[in-house]
Amino acid sequence: MAYVVTENCIKCKYQDCVEVCPVDCFYEGENFLVINPDECIDCGVCEPECPAEAIFPDSDPKAADWSEVNRQYAGEWPNITRKGDAPADADDWKGKPGKKDLLSSKAGR
Ligand code: SF4
Ligand code: SF4
Repeated sequence: MAYVVTENCIKCKYQDCVEVCPVDCFYEGENFLVINPDECIDCGVCEPECPAEAIFPDSDPKAADWSEVNRQYAGEWPNITRKGDAPADADDWKGKPGKKDLLSSKAGR
């Protein structure tokens, strides 16, 4: 079991989740974060911290399309352990549907 970052994070990337993860298993893309499923200890601490409600356990149907995305990019993007600045327009994108096609494959920082 692992927790999974899903569509709601795209272009929001508030990074509150990063601050609370005890095992530093978040990885950063240009406009999205992912969780490395092999490192996540399934503690659930990050889930309520996300202002965009983007994090779900992989057993949740909302995570279904995103487990592989998290696994793939966790192997390509750099580890992030400290919260940086959220995008200036993060609040404008919060809760917007249909963001999936806006996911950037570029690494963060
Ligand atoms: S707190 Fe939520 S929106 Fe922000 S980076 Fe983490 S998963 Fe993405
Ligand atoms: S569930 Fe726990 S270990 Fe997994 S990403 Fe969230 S805070 Fe980190």
